[in-house]
Amino acid sequence: MTDAAGKRSKAYSGHRFLALIAIPTMIAATVLCLTAFAALHWAATTVDRAAAGRQKALMSVVVDNLRSSIAHDQESVTVWDDAVLATRNPPYPTWIDANLGTWMHTYFGHDGAYVLDSTDVPVFAYEHGSLAPLQTYAHIRSSTSRLAAKLRARLAAGDTEGISDTNLSLGESDFAFDEGRPAIISVKPIISDTGTIPQTPGTEYLHVAVRFLDGSFLSELSGKYLFEELAFSPVVMAKPGWESYPIHNAEGRPIGNFVWRPDSPGTELLDRILLPTAAGILALLAALIVALSSMHRRAVFERQAADRIRYLAFHDALTELPNRHAFERRIQEVLAAQPKHGAVLYIDLDHFNVINDSLGHAMGDIVVHAVSERIAAVCGDDVYRTGGDEFMVIVPGRTTQAAVETARAIIAALVPPVIIGDVHAFVGASIGIASFAEAPANGFELFRKADVALYQAKTMGRGGVAVYDQTLDAEIRGTAAIERDLRSALARPGEIEVHYQPVYDAKTRKAVAVEALARWRHPRHGLIPPSEFIPIAESTGLIRDIGLVVLEAACSAAVRWDISLLAVNVSAVQLRDPGFAAQVADVLQCVGLPPEKLEIEITETAWLSPGGFGEASLAALRATGVAIALDDFGTGFSSLGRLSETAFDRIEIDQHFVKKALQSPRDAAVVRTIIDLARAHGSKTTAEGVETAEAADFLTRIGCDDLQGYWFSKPLPFAEIDAMLRPQTVDAG
Ligand code: C2E
Ligand code: CA
Ligand code: CA
Repeated sequence: MTDAAGKRSKAYSGHRFLALIAIPTMIAATVLCLTAFAALHWAATTVDRAAAGRQKALMSVVVDNLRSSIAHDQESVTVWDDAVLATRNPPYPTWIDANLGTWMHTYFGHDGAYVLDSTDVPVFAYEHGSLAPLQTYAHIRSSTSRLAAKLRARLAAGDTEGISDTNLSLGESDFAFDEGRPAIISVKPIISDTGTIPQTPGTEYLHVAVRFLDGSFLSELSGKYLFEELAFSPVVMAKPGWESYPIHNAEGRPIGNFVWRPDSPGTELLDRILLPTAAGILALLAALIVALSSMHRRAVFERQAADRIRYLAFHDALTELPNRHAFERRIQEVLAAQPKHGAVLYIDLDHFNVINDSLGHAMGDIVVHAVSERIAAVCGDDVYRTGGDEFMVIVPGRTTQAAVETARAIIAALVPPVIIGDVHAFVGASIGIASFAEAPANGFELFRKADVALYQAKTMGRGGVAVYDQTLDAEIRGTAAIERDLRSALARPGEIEVHYQPVYDAKTRKAVAVEALARWRHPRHGLIPPSEFIPIAESTGLIRDIGLVVLEAACSAAVRWDISLLAVNVSAVQLRDPGFAAQVADVLQCVGLPPEKLEIEITETAWLSPGGFGEASLAALRATGVAIALDDFGTGFSSLGRLSETAFDRIEIDQHFVKKALQSPRDAAVVRTIIDLARAHGSKTTAEGVETAEAADFLTRIGCDDLQGYWFSKPLPFAEIDAMLRPQTVDAG
């Protein structure tokens, strides 16, 4: 992937993520937090307000009770025969002081107490915890006389309203100022509790109780009802967070206000939970941010991975070139424009597997990379890597001739070796060309035709360039038909037959060996020679199965014959199979043929094959005692010197050489040299294609060990060779 593409995808997904997920989530989280706080605050103030309301209602009850409770205090001493007697003529000051003054002060906290006679003249005064001169009553008279008059009027009228088991006598009370201080003043008649001391209603002595609102009373009140910082204020408390309860006297005159700091359970709770809640929410937000950013990173990562996967779907990871899918897409686009000229080039590296095998895959990769750069340097952009060592190039707008020139330029560019350290890797390429005119609308067909041309180019040897033509295609299609038939032949036993050609000892002229040769009895085409199907079987891998059929048939036949050797041809494809030697050993053991009686023939071209000829298999076979022969020697143009590279038990001189040897003394000398060289390496020699007596004699003369050819015998079907080679003893048996 290019850097630009990477950045683009990162920026794109980051932006989208911010816009669609991160910012909305953060906004939602913040709104949620603010709403939660607002709700908490609202709940707290509502709770506070309800609490304050309750306290205010409580205060109203408290204030109401105040007057009746003082009256009640008074009743404990004023509804009492003793009190009536003690206050009347003559008054008994010590008793009065003890019971109506000091008692009321110490027990109930009353601040002042006075006793008035039937004409409202004070007969007793008590203030601030001690007896007071009677004239002190003067300062309270104005507030008291109204209450006293009202009470006497009610008493005189025989009013009994409010009298009950708990309210024993009538009474009047009101808020008032005394000596400038707010106070409750309560007036009660002093009456007989037994009813035995008659008094004229309205003339009863009266008991006046005074209780200041701003004194000890306040602490008593706040202690009892839990009003915080309760105070009495002449003015309404305007400060926020304070409550006031106004007090008026019976005439509606303001006396002052109880003020206190109301309970605020909501705010208190809020204060207590605010810090931990805020910390929790902050932690939550932090976790949210962490989660979002990790989601973001993951999203970016996934986007990049997806981009990479998409990229890899159309590109080759090693060379970064577009791949076969990209080619298929592109060629359809190019062809859709119906171009007049143009072609595709199918490039295949020559013997690249040799480089891979000898230098290793890492080096192979470096070479492929270097090659891809060289091809791109010649052709520009439209290069595709379509396989391990295959490339396609699209050259639009060019004539076939121009395409051929491009192909040659590519081959020229690949001539200099790829230098990796001190290794010089030589790679060549073969190129097949198919012009757009061959398949104007079908990219796949064009590809196939370029493949046909490549096949042709390959047969021309290294560095070949071929342009597709129809006759060539038909030939290859024929090949495809053979392959198809060959597959079904393998499924039907007997279609692959084995013929046997005897090999003769040059000196004794006795048959000492046979060579197994495959034949295909085609249901329609009759007997097909190996030259027509073996190469196809090799290129498709079917040779492995055919080879096994031949080997099994030949070995089980050979145990019947009185010969020292059975020769079986195997191809390099079979030898490269790591299990081949074991397979041979299995067959030998199965049919009971000693390994020393088997000779495996490998052709010189297979031996020289760049992909290797299966050295390991050969070594394993030799180890079990199987002999190895080099077949068709002289066709592969290998130097005689190479003979020392591999140990062969036998060298088979190719029939063309044998024939030429008789015609020219120079070729005769070559054959002689081969025989000498073989002998020097400890190998025996067989001359093939001996068709005349002269040839047989000549070869015998120059030291060839064994002879094979039509002059002795053609390859024979099993029945004939069996009749020829079966030992007499067996026959007799
Ligand atoms: P080859 O191994 O060189 O076998 C000898 C070929 O020369 C045989 O051809 C044989 O019929 C032919 N021949 C023998 N003497 C003469 C002669 O005097 N004059 C002429 N003109 N030809 C002679 P064939 O049977 O057609 O086999 C062709 C090749 O096919 C064989 O060459 C061998 O390389 C290959 N082949 C045959 N059978 C098998 C097989 O089972 N496996 C493999 N891998 N290759 C096989
Ligand atoms: Ca042979
Ligand atoms: Ca041969």
